[in-house]
Formats: sequence, structure tokens, C-alpha cells
Amino acid sequence: MAPGDAPKASEWGSLDAIASYVRSCTRCTLSESRTLAVPGEGSQFPSIMFIGEGPGFNEDQQGRPFVGRAGALLEELLALVPLRREDVYITNVVKCRPPENRDPSPDEVKACWPFLEAQIRLLQPRVIATLGRHSLMRLFPDARISDRHGTIMKWRDGIIVFPLYHPAAGLRSTRLKEALQEDFVKLPQAVIAALDSSRGASQTSGENDDSLDELDGGDDPQISLF
Ligand code: SF4
Repeated sequence: MAPGDAPKASEWGSLDAIASYVRSCTRCTLSESRTLAVPGEGSQFPSIMFIGEGPGFNEDQQGRPFVGRAGALLEELLALVPLRREDVYITNVVKCRPPENRDPSPDEVKACWPFLEAQIRLLQPRVIATLGRHSLMRLFPDARISDRHGTIMKWRDGIIVFPLYHPAAGLRSTRLKEALQEDFVKLPQAVIAALDSSRGASQTSGENDDSLDELDGGDDPQISLF
């Protein structure tokens, strides 16, 4: 596949193949100013996939998502669930840093969408937790983060979307940090909603659903849910 071709989500066989392509991608002008592209990282079988907006300075230097101060806050918030970053998958809407941390342009978001779409297809997370306005708007163009944060939304193929403020916003505002803390402790509810959604779908189709019974049963909801 030539660098400028538009790869289709169904053509990717693995996360490594996506990451390899992204690291040398030139599909948009962000490739000209990046140091390192940031494909994403984390569990290969995540219940929750976090999608931020784009890499910042530290991420661009290291080629890893959420490694600066916002990343430290994300890890602090994950511990409230409790989860560790290796329990989830973390990526961004655009995989290369916009200069001066400006918002990614619609053209850049569109150019990078096939990679994110392919990651979602391969990972099949129960819940997509969007971090920030751009991430939410990629999935729900008309949604407002101030209205929808901490609520459960249904995206295509029954995937549950749980909008969250971006951790960087939490670093700038105590009010938004408190909102992030309140929303993160509700993440298990989003996973339960996803389990209920898939149970409903399989019962409708008449499937035997013992696997879901195992997942949401037991005395320790944290272990069974994640
Ligand atoms: S932002 Fe996405 S589309 Fe643009 S160069 Fe980077 S990987 Fe390619």
C-alpha cells in the first residue's frame, strides 16, 4: 500500500501493522512537523478504549500517548476505578502532534480516521471513553462535551461511548478535575451497560450467553467487569 493511499479499516490484520504504517505515514501535513508519531498502546483485549485528541510535546518526543502531566492525571483517575493504564488501550484521534498544540483540522482528523477506525475494529472494546471535545465530536458530531460528559451514549455496532473531559482540562480547572473524578468512578456503570447491551443483542438472536453470565457475576465487580 502506497503512503498516500486510503487504507480501509477492514484491511488491517493487527495493531502492529497499523502502528508500523502510522510511524511513517504522510497522509496529512502533521507528518512534516512531528518528531514521532503516536499510534497508541495498551491492552490488546481492553474493556475500555480511551481516545484523546492528539499527542502533545512529551508524547511527540517519546512516541507514546499520555506521558506528560495530563498522562499522570489520567493514571491518577484510572486508579479511582481502579484500573492501570496497561489494563486499557489509549490512543488519539490524530496520531501526530499538531504544531503548538493547536486543534487538529477537520482534514487532519479525516486523514487519520482510518487508523482509529481500524484500531476500534481490532480491539472491539466494550466501552470507548472519549477524552475531550474533538474525540467526542469524531463519534457524535453534534454532541457537546459540557452536556454529555459522564453519560452513556450508544454508538454503532452497540459500542457504548462514555464522554469525559480531557485530563489537560482538569489540570487547568479544579472544577473540571472534580468532574473528571466524578465521571471516572462511573466508568464501571458504562461497562455494565455494554454488557447489558450485548446480552440483549445475543438473546434477541437466540445465542447461548454463558460467557456474559460469567463476566457480570461474582462478589467482586471490579474483577469480573475488567
Ligand atoms: S496525523 Fe494521522 S494521517 Fe496525519 S500524518 Fe499522522 S498518522 Fe498520518
